[in-house]
Amino acid sequence: MKVLMVGAGLSGAVIGRKMAEAGHDVTVIDSRDHVAGNCHTERDAETGVMVHVYGPHIFHTDDDEVWDYVNSFTRFKPYKNRVKSTTRGAVYSLPVNLHTINQYFGKTMRPDEARAFIEAQADTTIEEPQTFEEQALHFVGPDLYEAFFKGYTEKQWGCSPTELPASILKRLPVRFNYDDTYFVHRHQGMPENGYTAMVEAILDHPRIDVQLSTAFDPAMKGSFDHIVWSGPLDGYFDYELGRLGYRTLDFERFTADGDWQGCAVMNYGDRDVPYTRITEHKHFAPWEEHEGSVLYKEFSRACRPDDIPYYPIRLVKEKAMLADYIAKADTEPGVTFVGRLGTYRYLDMDVTIREALDTAEALLSAAKTGENLPVFVTSPL
Ligand code: UDP
Repeated sequence: MKVLMVGAGLSGAVIGRKMAEAGHDVTVIDSRDHVAGNCHTERDAETGVMVHVYGPHIFHTDDDEVWDYVNSFTRFKPYKNRVKSTTRGAVYSLPVNLHTINQYFGKTMRPDEARAFIEAQADTTIEEPQTFEEQALHFVGPDLYEAFFKGYTEKQWGCSPTELPASILKRLPVRFNYDDTYFVHRHQGMPENGYTAMVEAILDHPRIDVQLSTAFDPAMKGSFDHIVWSGPLDGYFDYELGRLGYRTLDFERFTADGDWQGCAVMNYGDRDVPYTRITEHKHFAPWEEHEGSVLYKEFSRACRPDDIPYYPIRLVKEKAMLADYIAKADTEPGVTFVGRLGTYRYLDMDVTIREALDTAEALLSAAKTGENLPVFVTSPL
């Protein structure tokens, strides 16, 4: 088969590689001038620091197969994400843990005491939290919610946490011990030479032809037996049913000497600070040494047609439009929609790779038996 992968991010690279290894001819195109999509990393010319060009990406997974997979293409260095938050004139550790609670309330509670203290504040009348706000009030009560989550979330998502699903907050735990690592996964790390080198290694196969700065043109359809589309689902259909909503990010880059903020990620919980966080990129590679430092102030806003989409919004309105696009896609032969943009979901990198491996397997087994290749292997709903 001749397969066209639209998008050279994680999905396109992993699926393309599997198909190439199975003997298919794979062309990977990307409209940008680099591979790796939004996990692209690049050495800063001025300071030599490895920069996460589209914002911080930290690899974390419990999936042994995914971990072995990425490690077979690049060396990972140990890296545990530890995030701080500045709010109401003080610095705290995130995710909310015993240190955060004791510091915030000026107490010296032990785990059980803190649990009882927070439970007394939490709104236990909310049995099954549906919205982000209900979830927060249920788990941490109003004080911590307002200090750490409300303002940040309004800035990040541009709407009230009462309109957002609880699932977004479920990404963050609340801990009654002093564990301040952001993720609990067994495998955590950073690719030694950045994500772009890792994706380049995945794409480095004699049956894969990578064409950068190449936008998809419907006329290409005729030259391939199948298309794997990791661009925006609505973009494939030229937005004819409307545009699925995304948040995009603007980064204000600045440099400094030495160590500017002392950690990789500092969140800002206050609503009146316009940015959500500042990332200091050299701290994502603690094994490297650099005199200079590169920092990004991160601002979130609604994504306009020419912006790079980051976070799918998936509110009620978008879900209705999504269902219409899925129905349309289901009648479209010859294409499989994959990844964060192709299935319009908030996906971590490890999940993206897991799904890409599964998708490749599904495509290969359908190709072998001569069945129609599936339009979706993972449902966007
Ligand atoms: N969040 C928050 N305060 C914080 C960090 C996160 O309210 O200091 C909320 C916010 O709504 C965010 C969600 O939790 O979108 C998930 O956070 P995560 O750090 O996983 O976001 P990402 O790094 O993917 O942007």
